Amino acid sequence: MRQMDERKRLELREDAATFRSGSQNARALTEDWVGRLMFCPNCTSDRLKQFPSNRPVADFFCPECAEEFEVKGQKSKFGPKVVDGAYATMVQRLRSETNPNLILLQYDRSRSLIRSAMVVPKQFFVPEVIQERRPLAETARRAGWVGCNILLDRIPELGKIFYVDQGLIHDAETVRSSWKKTLSLRDAIPSARGWLLQTWRIVERLPEASFRLEDVYAAEDELSAIFPANNNVRPKIRQQLQVLRDMGFIEFLGAGRYQRRSLN
Ligand SMILES: [Zn+2]
Repeated sequence: MRQMDERKRLELREDAATFRSGSQNARALTEDWVGRLMFCPNCTSDRLKQFPSNRPVADFFCPECAEEFEVKGQKSKFGPKVVDGAYATMVQRLRSETNPNLILLQYDRSRSLIRSAMVVPKQFFVPEVIQERRPLAETARRAGWVGCNILLDRIPELGKIFYVDQGLIHDAETVRSSWKKTLSLRDAIPSARGWLLQTWRIVERLPEASFRLEDVYAAEDELSAIFPANNNVRPKIRQQLQVLRDMGFIEFLGAGRYQRRSLN
């Protein structure tokens, strides 16, 4: 972020709150903050620009490299899930090439401060991280409408790139280098990316960088629950470990032993 006093950099500018509704004001304040302070994680551009009108999906874009970003803000800390919009729209987005990256903000309205800001690169959005919610009740204004949740707990840490983590500001170099480490995942074909990301998430959370095949097999039930149609979870795990090796994320040491490379 541009050079200025730390506390100042996290401040929301209350004069951007010109609406009657609290949620509209929160949106205006957080978008104002993004427009003033967030740089592009993908190139050297020191700012992101807001789309001129209300576009259905993306809110900001980089004027230099054209990466697109959706912004979502919430008061609470980032938990296991984030409530998002219509399920059908999300499913359509995942199939298209135009799915934007997601900027997630946690703000403190009473102190007019940003607490945390992170970007999740678009290649982490696969069907396995989207949960269909129950249709709204008959009595609701939009009866039958189906929303969705983004399951943050199914997104690897690799895909959570913090600009601000509970008040602590990360420098641009760190943010951009974290972003760069995720780019090879864009090349993985979308239908194969789900398994790849879930396998990496299991590997990433193992306590030791050096691990055994059994350590990954220990997550067999968890992976079966995520991919109920797959009856061959163990062969799939082995296959994904090979893909991760080819991508340079892990090394094979032989005799069922592996080494996680330090990406972060
Ligand atoms: Zn850019």
